[in-house]
Amino acid sequence: MPACLFCEILTGTIPALRIAEDAEAMAFMDINPAVPGHALVIPRDHSVDALAAPPAALAACMVLAGRVGRAAELVLGATGVTFLSCARPDGGQTVFHLHVHVLPRQPADGLSFPWLHKPGDPAVIETIAGSLRSALY
Ligand SMILES: [Zn+2]
Repeated sequence: MPACLFCEILTGTIPALRIAEDAEAMAFMDINPAVPGHALVIPRDHSVDALAAPPAALAACMVLAGRVGRAAELVLGATGVTFLSCARPDGGQTVFHLHVHVLPRQPADGLSFPWLHKPGDPAVIETIAGSLRSALY
């Protein structure tokens, strides 16, 4: 079975800017942010997608995603949050480990779906991660 990118992030084999975690789920910054503060929430136990995941994993991801969204309101001034989970290739999924995108929104932020995946500025992402962490830990 090919290695799973997000399982490797969970084990630390691949580095990521973690911003929050609990016993069942972990949140980290997306390195290709669609908007500033774009984070991903994943379950610790591998599930392919939201259609295959056990209910407890789905619940854990949404609980942590809600915490990240509230932190984005608090420290990033987000006026809305889009939670998105794509399932299966035709659903737009590209990494096959359940994940919930947490997209902090602003009025007229220009985000449209699907967004273009392009690398963000690592220094900017790290600064935002620090702000979110301060509200999450
Ligand atoms: Zn995985």
